[in-house]
Amino acid sequence: MQPKSTIMELPVYQPGKPIEEVKRELGLEEVIKLASNENPYGCSERARQAVRAELELMNLYPDGASQELVQALAERYEVNRDQIIIGAGSDEIIAMLTKAYLVPGDETIMATPSFPQYGHNALIEGAVCIEVPLVDGVHDLDAMAAAITDKTKIIWVCNPNNPSGTIVTRDQLEAFLSKVPDKVLVVLDEAYCEYIEDEEYPDGLDYIRSLRHVIVLRTFSKAYGLAALRIGYGIGDPDVIRAINQVRGPFNTTRMAQAAARAALEDQAFVAECRQKNREELAYLTEQFDRMGLTYYPAYGNFIMVDCQRDAKQLFELLLHKGIIVRGGHALGFPTSIRVTVGTSEQNKKFILALEEVLSS
Ligand code: PMP
Repeated sequence: MQPKSTIMELPVYQPGKPIEEVKRELGLEEVIKLASNENPYGCSERARQAVRAELELMNLYPDGASQELVQALAERYEVNRDQIIIGAGSDEIIAMLTKAYLVPGDETIMATPSFPQYGHNALIEGAVCIEVPLVDGVHDLDAMAAAITDKTKIIWVCNPNNPSGTIVTRDQLEAFLSKVPDKVLVVLDEAYCEYIEDEEYPDGLDYIRSLRHVIVLRTFSKAYGLAALRIGYGIGDPDVIRAINQVRGPFNTTRMAQAAARAALEDQAFVAECRQKNREELAYLTEQFDRMGLTYYPAYGNFIMVDCQRDAKQLFELLLHKGIIVRGGHALGFPTSIRVTVGTSEQNKKFILALEEVLSS
């Protein structure tokens, strides 16, 4: 038996450490997880109710094409139904895109450090990853455009970028898009867009109408608080959506996820509340970092990369022993930083207290 040679050396995805595991291993009663950019305020009560109703129908397959959710998204974003694909998280759409478009030897361009699933899935397909370093934590779109060759098939723009948290502005994105030939697919990953109010932040959907080679990815895992259900969507050109559908599993999302997502979309008040609290808490964290003399990248989503000028792995372990799970920058390409999810006011205060103790020890 011989698995695909492309997968043998791939690193296994390292998720944020689960709360239960940390409690058990370290004998801690209270553990706060600020590691996976989850929504600390839960999800809409309407989504919860929708899931409960679907529990009665668990013996039935879901609608494989998620037609009602597609309809709801089409209305909300004023696009056609054939411009939308639903996936088990945007993770699955990333995987479907690479499956649909990349063959061995193709090139795909991404920033580094950025969301690792672009490269991971591209390598599974035998594609060559062209990684373009961030400049000051921001995508170097000029260098990414300059890296395009005849072999380039997909370019990934993570906006805001995970893990650095920075954005590319509308002007930067438009200048970049004007340089990309239309045979190259541009994926705008906007997993955290619901959190952003900045005037300069571009709405990827503004481009899909005129540029057929742009697809926007979004998710219900973050501001909508449905990470456990695994549901996200892509909006783009019908031809691109058709290609992705060719490689989609027949029932790739569940009834519960589809119903919850529909209900969550209708509860924009919940999203607005999360956006506001996130903004206030982000301001609290940056004030505290300023007070402590720590530098950080400008953060636009629900997480922030802060440079603590200390070995990140050690810092991660020390915080873990205090019951705070963050992402150590050592695993993300930032060896003296940590990436911390913006939590609730109480969580953030405890985090800052723990961080101060650790840094002064
Ligand atoms: N893109 C980015 C930039 C992310 O940070 C994440 C989640 N960590 C995803 C995509 C995938 O999210 P999901 O599969 O939960 O929709």
